[in-house]
Amino acid sequence: MPALGLGVWQAGTGPRVVQAVATALETGYRLIDTAKLYGNEAEVGEGVRRGGVPREEVFVTTKLWNDDHGRAKAKRAFEARRRRLGLDYVDLYLIHWPGAGERIETWKALVEIAGEGKCRSIGVSNFTIDHLEELARASDVVPAVNQVELHPFLFQRELIDYCQRHGIQVQAYSPIARASHLDEPTVVAIATAHRRSAAQVMLRWSLQHGLSAIPKSIHPERIRENASIFDFELSTAEMARLDALSSGARVAWDPTGVP
Ligand code: NDP
Repeated sequence: MPALGLGVWQAGTGPRVVQAVATALETGYRLIDTAKLYGNEAEVGEGVRRGGVPREEVFVTTKLWNDDHGRAKAKRAFEARRRRLGLDYVDLYLIHWPGAGERIETWKALVEIAGEGKCRSIGVSNFTIDHLEELARASDVVPAVNQVELHPFLFQRELIDYCQRHGIQVQAYSPIARASHLDEPTVVAIATAHRRSAAQVMLRWSLQHGLSAIPKSIHPERIRENASIFDFELSTAEMARLDALSSGARVAWDPTGVP
């Protein structure tokens, strides 16, 4: 799975999304993250088909929403996702949220879907360690990915360690904290020292923690800016200063209370 992807939540629908996907592919992104919930899988599929990059070089993720839990519904929903995307296969299919419905039955359906060859890998999103342990007790198949909120203001170190120990790739969503902390003094100081933007520093922080990150932007110049993170390196001291910013501040939903 590529280390960097384009997220398209709240990117809207229509030609602008197709164009954002095309810009991302031209820029060198090879991962696009969508979901049933985002309402733009058709645009993502179109962008991927039009993007001029061979399909096998592009990694497409979509997700199972809360109203599709349970074995039969999960299987039907996956076919609907594939039709919306207009793609023969999906690279990664995630359970979007642990809270709704029969998540173990749903996971078993995803295992069957993966076995049928139309989905290359399966995983989860917003799963805590408790949710992952429950899954491990119920199934021998380990999720390939856990996609969760991660940025310097929410450094979920214990969850990352757990996933890394169990061979689960962690993917950071909202990796620039929805642009809510771009003026934070430590981030700005480190960005200035490297002649980079605050967003680039936050994304580089994700990479250096071994995470895959999926920043969202609809603007071509920001899509390019967010990809320009492979030619500089944060020092150990800078990483520690960024780690220390974590205060548990979430910009998205909190799954910790989900039974
Ligand atoms: P991000 O941290 O990616 O922030 C996106 C926001 O930052 C947008 O408002 C964007 O504006 C702005 N932005 C992007 N780049 C820059 C930049 N270089 N400088 C200044 N502002 C910038 O948050 P998201 O919550 O969107 O997360 C990213 C992706 O993660 C989502 O699109 C989705 O794919 C996934 N996600 C998954 C969730 C899950 O439950 N599994 C939950 C939430 C997100 P603009 O577009 O106008 O440039």
